[in-house]
Amino acid sequence: TTEAGRDFIRDIVQADLDSGRHKSVVTRFPPEPNGYLHIGHAKSIGLNFGIAQEFGGRCHLRFDDTNPAKEEQEYIDAIKTDVHWLGYDWGDNLFHASDYFEQLYEWAELLIRDGKAYVDDQTPTQMRETRGTLTEPGVNSPFRDRSVEENLDLFRRMRAGEFPNGARVLRAKIDMASGNINLRDPVLYRILHAHHPRTGDAWKIYPSYDFAHGQSDAIEHITHSICTLEFEDHRPLYDWFIENLPVPSKPHQYEFARLNLSYTILSKRVLTQLVRDGHVSGWDDPRMPTLAGLRRRGVPAAALRDFIKRIGVAKANSVVDVAMFDFAIRETLNKTALRRMAVLRPLKIVIENYPEGQSEELEAVNHPDDENAGTRRIRFGREIYIEQEDFMENPPKKFFRLSPGSEVRLRYAYFVTCREVVKNDAGEIIELRCTYDPATKGGNAPDGRKVKATIHWVSAADAVNAEVRIYNPLFTKPDPDASNFAAELNPQSLEVLPDAKLEPVLAGDNSDEPVQFERQGYFVRDRDSKPGHLVFSRTIGLRDTWAK
Ligand code: ATP
Ligand code: MG
Ligand code: MG
Repeated sequence: TTEAGRDFIRDIVQADLDSGRHKSVVTRFPPEPNGYLHIGHAKSIGLNFGIAQEFGGRCHLRFDDTNPAKEEQEYIDAIKTDVHWLGYDWGDNLFHASDYFEQLYEWAELLIRDGKAYVDDQTPTQMRETRGTLTEPGVNSPFRDRSVEENLDLFRRMRAGEFPNGARVLRAKIDMASGNINLRDPVLYRILHAHHPRTGDAWKIYPSYDFAHGQSDAIEHITHSICTLEFEDHRPLYDWFIENLPVPSKPHQYEFARLNLSYTILSKRVLTQLVRDGHVSGWDDPRMPTLAGLRRRGVPAAALRDFIKRIGVAKANSVVDVAMFDFAIRETLNKTALRRMAVLRPLKIVIENYPEGQSEELEAVNHPDDENAGTRRIRFGREIYIEQEDFMENPPKKFFRLSPGSEVRLRYAYFVTCREVVKNDAGEIIELRCTYDPATKGGNAPDGRKVKATIHWVSAADAVNAEVRIYNPLFTKPDPDASNFAAELNPQSLEVLPDAKLEPVLAGDNSDEPVQFERQGYFVRDRDSKPGHLVFSRTIGLRDTWAK
């Protein structure tokens, strides 16, 4: 029932604008700065910033910085970088939940004075045990009927730092028998003696997510507060605060299905552990599903945006095949990436009838579908490298690449025929002796004879050495288990090819733009490159070859 490019949330926004319920739309993206953003966050960013753009409204970036035990400035900075990289801008609308700590505190006192909140001295374990279950109601706390005066006194002393962490909490007094567990006297404030990146040591108590979130939305006049489905059961609580407090606006919460991707875990807890335990080199390891990792891997922001658009927004959770993401990456890079030649696992060829000490320049196109990308000169000579896998000594029937006595076309160059296989004492092939046909320059034979295969190559005299890193899925299973992820890590998620040979133009190119290594895939220069030691990372292969 939803037209293309539309989804149920955009339909709601449109209806609210049409009916005049809202004059303009205000959304927000509310990350907690306790880790780096991942591709799931990109879905939320695309939705919130996308709606603001499409409907002429605005989208706030709000840091949900209510838990200083886990939050760091590094994450705040990284999140800003990543949102910008994705192509979105919050303009003047940068906010922090911590900006509202004083206001939230006043509202908490107001609830106490209205008899709607109390200080509970039970231990966290006692509170868990008296919460009840889905089928059984909870049990009232023995501290639930404290007087307003006592509650105010204790709450103020909590704020003043008189009590240790965990000694007491402030709870809303709602209904311990509610069918919705979130309404069974939820925690509003906890004691936490921790340094906050923005408020320093001013606070010894911090608001819960539930108490901070909706009120922050209300303060910022958010019209549509969009979050993932896990929060559906929190909506009655969200509404309870909005109804019971003198908030300046009445936002509404809407829930959509979070992004789940096959072979991928999108949980900050797990991603944090991957980094801490050294399973990856950092948050921006190219195997990570973080935006920083994807960027370093060479994934263009445009591919991410395209993917987000393709998957749409639904009300039911599902798992998206990571192949869909890969497809979006290939589609984008195929259009933009310049073509280059690189040999990842080199096998040397000596062209015996090519004059020694000579070489020549050939012309190669930079992009087959984009004339404006121009051409470049590549050098051809007596010694070149080809890919080991493009030669077989005893080929099966359908192998059309190089083998003893067979002829292939060298891309942009000549036909060559393999005459002899040279081996070392261990019996390993170390070199091929070939001949070329000078009449086939440019790749066609005047006598009309055909070859079935064209292979890439790099001139040995000009080749630049590089380390090439090939990335495979980080997990071996399509649905990795977040509680046992270490056992499901793919031992072959990183393959290092130490001895790749690149055409020399790649050494001079300092850009971060991925290129296509012809017949191999898309690759990007990694920041580990140093003078004399180039490092390239594979963004993605030309087709899906990982044996899943
Ligand atoms: P945590 O793992 O700490 O619960 P989170 O993934 O919920 O973190 P937040 O920083 O709270 O991270 O997320 C910011 C916003 O991104 C939230 O609105 C959240 O709903 C949304 N978001 C998080 N993960 C996904 C996902 N996989 N798909 C879509 N949206 C997501
Ligand atoms: Mg969170
Ligand atoms: Mg969250």
